[in-house]
Amino acid sequence: MARSVRLVHRTARFRAHRASVEKVRALGIGILTDSEATGLYGAARLEEVEIRHRVTTDVHRLPAQTVVAALGFLADLGPLREWGLTLRARRIAVDTRMATNLPRVLAAGDTTDYPGKVRLISVGFGEAATAVNNAATVIDPEAALHSTGLMYSLRPPS
Ligand SMILES: Cc1cc2nc3c(=O)[nH]c(=O)nc-3n(C[C@H](O)[C@H](O)[C@H](O)COP(=O)(O)OP(=O)(O)OC[C@H]3O[C@@H](n4cnc5c(N)ncnc54)[C@H](O)[C@@H]3O)c2cc1C
Repeated sequence: MARSVRLVHRTARFRAHRASVEKVRALGIGILTDSEATGLYGAARLEEVEIRHRVTTDVHRLPAQTVVAALGFLADLGPLREWGLTLRARRIAVDTRMATNLPRVLAAGDTTDYPGKVRLISVGFGEAATAVNNAATVIDPEAALHSTGLMYSLRPPS
């Protein structure tokens, strides 16, 4: 809650869901695009934020009491990069079984990639079921696909 809010965004375009962007625009808050916060100033507490326009390089200061940093996150495969997996744009390439290029290694979720991939929670859930069912048939060729029970029977013992 604040008397006034400014949103400072590095680019001219927002990647969030269009409806979310429209909601923010409808709030009537100041939106500074192509801009970034380049300095924080104050004595005992924050008093001003320096804003730099990335295209014109103009710099100006705005009075402010609080800065909320919402900087996103970095997706990183870490040690998986060394496994010999086929990667595409820093993601693991899988086929329609969610199988990777390595035998008996399947993958699911945001980290995977295939043509038309949509990164949503529901998609990841579906991919997990696909991967588990296909893994089961590798481990046990008698196992039937399409079984939710497999999701439970393959859990490690507690
Ligand atoms: C801003 C934003 C808004 C979104 N909004 C929606 C939405 O409205 N609806 C929707 O359906 N989806 C939304 N999504 C997408 C959704 O969050 C993802 O599709 C979903 O979280 C993917 O689940 P996941 O389990 O594959 O990956 P993640 O949720 O990313 O989980 C991966 C986990 O693995 C951990 N991890 C990473 N490396 C290692 C390692 N080396 N060892 C151990 N653990 C590790 C990570 O810390 C993380 O906890 C949004 C995503 C973002 C970023």
